[in-house]
Amino acid sequence: MPAADRRKLIIGIDIGGTKCAVTIAEMNGTILHRRSEPTRGEERSPEDVLECLAAHARSLMTEANASRSDMIGVGVSCGGPLDTESGTIFAPPNLPKWKAVPVKSIFEKALAIPVRVENDANATAVAEWKFGAGIGAKNLVFMTMGTGIGGGIIADGRLLHGTNDLAGELGHQTIVMNGPRCGCGKRGCLEAMASGPSIARLARESMTYGRQKRVLQLAGGKPDSITAAHVIEAAKEGDAFAKAILIEAGTYMGVGIANVIMILNPEVVILGTIAVHAGDLILNPIRDAVNEYTWKRSSDVCKIVPAALGDQAQDLAAIALWLQD
Ligand SMILES: [Zn+2]
Repeated sequence: MPAADRRKLIIGIDIGGTKCAVTIAEMNGTILHRRSEPTRGEERSPEDVLECLAAHARSLMTEANASRSDMIGVGVSCGGPLDTESGTIFAPPNLPKWKAVPVKSIFEKALAIPVRVENDANATAVAEWKFGAGIGAKNLVFMTMGTGIGGGIIADGRLLHGTNDLAGELGHQTIVMNGPRCGCGKRGCLEAMASGPSIARLARESMTYGRQKRVLQLAGGKPDSITAAHVIEAAKEGDAFAKAILIEAGTYMGVGIANVIMILNPEVVILGTIAVHAGDLILNPIRDAVNEYTWKRSSDVCKIVPAALGDQAQDLAAIALWLQD
C-alpha cells in the first residue's frame, strides 16, 4: 500500500485508580473500538495490569484490522507524578502500589509501537485543545475541578512540562496563607479551598441558624455526608445557603485563575467537572473574581468556559497525546 493511503491509527490507554480503558481511534478522534476493565490495583501487580491492557490493545488492533504499520503510537494517560521522558509512573495517589513502574518500556516491548506517557490533567488539556473547548487556541489553561484540582497548560502552542514534569500543578498554588491543610501536605492550596471536598467542608463549617436545612436534607441529615453534589443540587433549586457556598468557593477559584491569567496570558481557561455541573452558579463568581484580580487587558482576551468533552475526555486524552505536534 502506498504510504499516503496508509491508515493512521492511535491506541489510547487510560489508567485510572478504579478502571482502565483501551481505545483504538482515528486521527480525528473517532473511536473505532474500546475495552475497559476494573484496575484492581490492590489485588494485581502493575505488570499484570499492564500485560492485560497490552492484550486489549492487540485485540483492538485485530478488530480494527490494523497492522503495526497503521499505528502512529500509543498514548497513556495516568495520574502523576510521572516522568514523561522515561515514561515511568511514581506511585500516584490513586495507585499507591505503582512505585516507579516503567510503563513506556513495558508497552513498547509488548506492542512494538512508540509510547507516550502523560499525566491525566495534561493529557486532558491536550484533548480539550484538539477536540473540545480550546480548538484553535495557542494559549490555553485546563483545570480539573473534582476531588482535586489539577491543571494542564498549553503555552505558545506547546504543552508545558517544566523541569521535572511538575508544571501546571495549578491546584497547589497557595491561596490562603496558613489556610486549611491540603491533601498534598501544604496549607491553603487552591485545592483545599475550591475542590469538591473543600466545597463540602465550607458547607459544613458554615452551618448556622438552620440556613443549611436543604443541603443537610439532601445529605440524609448527616453533616459528614454532605458532598459538593448536594450543594450544587440545592443551589440549582435556588437555596440561598448553597448558592452562597458556591460563591465562596468560586471566588477562591477565581483568585487562583486570576493568578494563572496574570502569569500565562491565556485566551481560554477551561474548567472541568464541578464547573460543568454547577454552570453559572460557580462560573459567575469565578468570572467576577477574575475581573477583580486581573488587568482588564488580560481578562478581556480570556474566556472562562466549562469543559466540552464530558464522558469522552479520558479516552480522548490518551489519544490526543499523539496529535499535539
Ligand atoms: Zn496542595
